[in-house]
Amino acid sequence: MLSPFANHAEKLKADFLPRKHKLFINNQWVDPVDGGTLDVYNPSTKQKLATVAAGNAKDIDLAVKAAEKAFHGPWSKFTAAQRTAIMHKLADLMEANIDELSTLEVMDAGNPIMHVRHGDIAMAVAYLRYYAGWTDKLFGQVPMSNSGPEMLSYSTRQPVGVAAAITPWNAPMILSMFKIAPTLASGCTFVHKPAELAPMTALRFCELVLEAGIPEGVFNVVTGTGPEAGAPLASHPGVAKVGFTGSTATGAEILRLAAPTFKRVTLELGGKSPVFMFPDCDVDAAIAGISNGIFYKTGQFCAAGTRLYIHDKIYDKVVAGFEKHAKAAKVGQPLETDTTMGPIISQKQLDRVTNYLEIGRKEGGEIVTGGNLLPGDGYFIEPTLIANVDQTKTLVKEEIFGPVLVAQRFTDSHDLDTLAAWGNDTQYGLAARIWTTNLRNAHGLAARLDAGTITINNGFLGDLDFGGFKSSGLGRELGQYGIESYLEHKSIAVGF
Ligand code: NAD
Repeated sequence: MLSPFANHAEKLKADFLPRKHKLFINNQWVDPVDGGTLDVYNPSTKQKLATVAAGNAKDIDLAVKAAEKAFHGPWSKFTAAQRTAIMHKLADLMEANIDELSTLEVMDAGNPIMHVRHGDIAMAVAYLRYYAGWTDKLFGQVPMSNSGPEMLSYSTRQPVGVAAAITPWNAPMILSMFKIAPTLASGCTFVHKPAELAPMTALRFCELVLEAGIPEGVFNVVTGTGPEAGAPLASHPGVAKVGFTGSTATGAEILRLAAPTFKRVTLELGGKSPVFMFPDCDVDAAIAGISNGIFYKTGQFCAAGTRLYIHDKIYDKVVAGFEKHAKAAKVGQPLETDTTMGPIISQKQLDRVTNYLEIGRKEGGEIVTGGNLLPGDGYFIEPTLIANVDQTKTLVKEEIFGPVLVAQRFTDSHDLDTLAAWGNDTQYGLAARIWTTNLRNAHGLAARLDAGTITINNGFLGDLDFGGFKSSGLGRELGQYGIESYLEHKSIAVGF
């Protein structure tokens, strides 16, 4: 079936993709100082998609200086209402170009078009509009005075300054928007280093920024590798805040780089999220939930529910149900509208996944379904479920970042404390999922789990802030908390 998005793909191949992609600094497309380039590949074909600029510390310095100038310049004079208006204009432009942006992101990162078009990009527009509504709601406080009428204390909020964003490849646009929207709403300025594996929507977005009329220097993008462009951004003295999404190892490095200048840091890192399935749950809904959860982004999703704890009474039914969903899943070209699961992003990531499968086998895990690479031009692998594991096994402890579930049984003899101890028995604490109709199990377990987001009878992450306990991160994005880290608080005491 020819995808209705094929036309957009052809247009992108004819016009946008072959361009000489430059860096976006001060509302201008500029060559990187040292002229470096990076090739970007389509993970579903392994074909080269584009060549982008490889920026380094010199380019980062230019971008940060442009952002500093804009922060103190015209952008600081923008009223809240003006920032709201320009954010809505940007959201309108995203909507007007949503099919093209979605197609580009699919070619770049490999996620299925229906997820990207109706999930990631549509949600990115919604987050932009959500934060557009925050610009005039960033209040300080006026407490009752301790000193009577001789003293007035009040507090104000102000934007921290230049906000840097360093983002991964698994959900390029939406994870960037988690940072772009609160930056613009708070009055900060922005320097973005997108993932080198999938930087294309970040570059196309700059054209919309220009069209929306965002003043020069407010929004800058420097493509390049992590060590060459990301590291100098995370350590640049002109940057006041770093918003990072990526691996836990890189998160620790970002924290170290940001420490000498005490930047505000938000880290959204890895996960190994547990899923508890009680015998009283809607088993079919739960099976669909775990299946869609691992098909989503081919398991390359930080909050994916990857560790299954299934009650003995429903274990066989759940395992058989997942197998049925996995066999029926269409793993393949992500621009086709009926594709359930796309490719892994790169050979390196695919090797990482197959290496974990090998470790799983060696440690006695039983591959119930999946485990094989699939023919085709891209990095395709079957959705996989591994049984016969326990808490001591590598696959239960480490983040695989691929479409691999591990399953264990529990019985009535395991109380909520034991289940929670298993759930918490990892360095991560990003998300957890509970499937039950029993209130005591639902809320009792939710209270005991150390995870930033817990879903009950629901595969979606909800409408509140997002972030992790322990090694899954620092701080929160989205919601009211998501804008706090872009603001300084100032207390002012007036004596009469
Ligand atoms: P990564 O850490 O390798 O890269 C993320 C970004 O950091 C990229 O832009 C990369 O260029 C940059 N980077 C790499 N080394 C750097 C350095 N030394 N200094 C500065 N920047 C550097 O992660 P990845 O492989 O792109 O993404 C996968 C990881 O991201 C997984 O662990 C996943 O769980 C995590 N992730 C977390 C969330 C979340 O919200 N918690 C969301 C998506 C992905």
